[in-house]
Amino acid sequence: MSQRLLVLGGAGFVGSHLCDRLLERGDAVVCVDDFSTGRRSNIAHLDGEDGFSLVEADISVALPVDGRVDGVLHLASPASPPDYLARPLETLQVGSEGTRRALELAQRQGARFLLASTSEVYGDPHVHPQIESYWGNVNPVGPRSVYDEAKRFAEALTMAYHRTLGTDVVIARIFNTYGPRLRPDDGRVVSNFLVQAMRRQPLTVYGDGNQTRSLCYVDDEVSGLIALFDSELTGPINIGNPDEHTVLELARAVAELFDPGLEIVHLPLPADDPTRRRPDITLARERLGWTPTTTIGDGLAATARFFADDLGGEGLG
Ligand code: NAD
Ligand code: UDP
Repeated sequence: MSQRLLVLGGAGFVGSHLCDRLLERGDAVVCVDDFSTGRRSNIAHLDGEDGFSLVEADISVALPVDGRVDGVLHLASPASPPDYLARPLETLQVGSEGTRRALELAQRQGARFLLASTSEVYGDPHVHPQIESYWGNVNPVGPRSVYDEAKRFAEALTMAYHRTLGTDVVIARIFNTYGPRLRPDDGRVVSNFLVQAMRRQPLTVYGDGNQTRSLCYVDDEVSGLIALFDSELTGPINIGNPDEHTVLELARAVAELFDPGLEIVHLPLPADDPTRRRPDITLARERLGWTPTTTIGDGLAATARFFADDLGGEGLG
């Protein structure tokens, strides 16, 4: 029997791909979004599709969904640093009150609940690669804390519902994900570098560029999230790609795709920017049989094609 699943934040970058894949396999999907950082164009192709519906709502205020619900996949939150730094109070609200509302609905409906948590709960990690048992190193009063602590609170709330009320939950710790439907102006590293390269502008590396990230292509990420939702695990489980690169290497890879002569400029490093990040995905490999397969070269090329289309002639410089 097909399930009726809520995707909170379903008009966002990752959420819209999740809607696509759940619909493709025959689930009914209710996308709930307030379009604060997502885009209508991400889900425009689903309008009128069998099994798809959209509820426009700020889940920090209300979650107006009637009828049976078999699962709640909670991705609603600003995720790009410039986005959450511009919306500090909203980010804390959706991580706390929004998550509580989503858990309450899942509990009432006997539905499975998936929390899209983040590698940011590890902060600037002292353990490398990051394993799920590591508690993290987060500055609780720095500018990024609005996001990190909101997600840490959301994890705590999720586990409290599970322990106290028996709610069926799972926590996914998502590591840096990129791909088509990133907003060209969302300020994350892949969107910035690709859009800058298309406009033949200098690539903006923050700090010396020796900080590392491990980038997961969105199709792989969504496969991992679905495998986790379909499992009986509680988590937390890291879902990401352990292929680690410095930011400078990434800038050079993007330049290579467009024009090796592109200038790289260095700008100040944002406060509390983690110095290194790589997921240990042993648990996901062993318990879910999931492993990312898209290479950074293929993923960047596919994302570049998306931006070329999204930006039209303007992007091709
Ligand atoms: P995104 O900003 O593209 O998507 C988030 C979506 O949530 C947007 O459509 C936005 O409009 C919606 N939203 C925000 N606040 C809301 C509210 N109060 N009510 C209803 N909708 C709301 O970001 P994304 O990259 O797709 O991230 C999705 C989720 O995955 C987030 O929870 C994020 O924390 C998590 N995550 C993403 C990454 C990544 O690299 N993309 C890494 C770690 C964790
Ligand atoms: N970054 C950069 N230039 C940019 C955007 C980001 O050098 O134009 C760096 C940023 O300082 C961080 C890394 O790239 O070290 C990843 O940043 P992003 O905002 O994509 O994600 P984060 O992992 O910081 O949440």
